[in-house]
Amino acid sequence: MTKNITKLAKQLIRFPTTEDNQKAKKQCFNFIINYLKNSRLKIKKIITPIGSALYITNTTTKPIICLVGHIDVVPGNYADYIPKIIGNKLFGRGAIDMKGSVAVLIEVIKNAPAGTAPLSLLLVDDEEKSTGTAARVAIQQLNLRPHFTIVAEQTDFNLVTQQKGTVNVTLTYRGRAAHSAEPQNGVNALDKLIAKITQLQNLPLWKTKKKFRPTISLTTLAGGEAKNSIPATATATLNIRYTNGEDKRQLLNGIKKIKEPRLKIGCVVKPLMTVPKNNCNLQRLKKLLDVFTCQTTAFEKSATGSDAKYFSEAGLPVVVFGPIGRNYHAKNEWADLKSLESYYSILNQFINSYS
Ligand SMILES: [Zn+2]
Repeated sequence: MTKNITKLAKQLIRFPTTEDNQKAKKQCFNFIINYLKNSRLKIKKIITPIGSALYITNTTTKPIICLVGHIDVVPGNYADYIPKIIGNKLFGRGAIDMKGSVAVLIEVIKNAPAGTAPLSLLLVDDEEKSTGTAARVAIQQLNLRPHFTIVAEQTDFNLVTQQKGTVNVTLTYRGRAAHSAEPQNGVNALDKLIAKITQLQNLPLWKTKKKFRPTISLTTLAGGEAKNSIPATATATLNIRYTNGEDKRQLLNGIKKIKEPRLKIGCVVKPLMTVPKNNCNLQRLKKLLDVFTCQTTAFEKSATGSDAKYFSEAGLPVVVFGPIGRNYHAKNEWADLKSLESYYSILNQFINSYS
């Protein structure tokens, strides 16, 4: 099996499936469809205005377990799309985020013996895009109701049971220009905007000492027309991460309070991911992992997001669970080949033990 997984992962890495490369993403999906053509799996393509998804099932009934991956990657250099094996590591763009895992998921569904839990695999091509929603659209369009979903992002075999939600806020202040020597004749858009940002940064919800806490980051700030003019316009973006519904409520209340006619506010809210720790399938996976790794598997909380949020949003139990690797979204990205093999075995055991 190592050979199949490694070979397939290497083939997938060769497609430069970045956000702007529609052709490569299409070719990669077609390659997967072709790879599975003799497998009797049912494959459906879902196309949305932003991204696409491949939905693969081994059943005519409703799948019980859903595996989720993405084939898109963040941009790399030309050399990053030429996979390399050094020792026990597979190097290349997307090796761990997440073409290595996608190769495993494909082999799992391809080889799942008859009589095991009805299985589905959802692959999307827009997970790295901030506006990506192919997974959400697929859940809605196909009315997906799996009992349990595994999202295959790298977790080093830990179980991620919580991921923060995101709110991207764009603030645009419209002031009034004047000569900077006579500021009283204008309305300084930058000053006004900074005051609004400070108001948001001073909300009590950021003051908690909890390790898993909401955060607010000013990510862009621009404004002003000339060195000797009072700025007429200013724009800023804030990237906010929230950990629960109460955080979100306090934040949205705070945003309401800064409203005024000269300020335009744009808000894009993405859901958070959470699953009860006593979920029976999560517990079953944990037990299996404890035995496999000979240690107690940790439940983790993560500041970053994944497509798991759309399953949570739909009220479906989901966990983020994946193999070992490093340097995702960075130079020298790699996946541990032995961990890909173990990942295959664990998923197989999980599906086989379903009753
Ligand atoms: Zn990823």
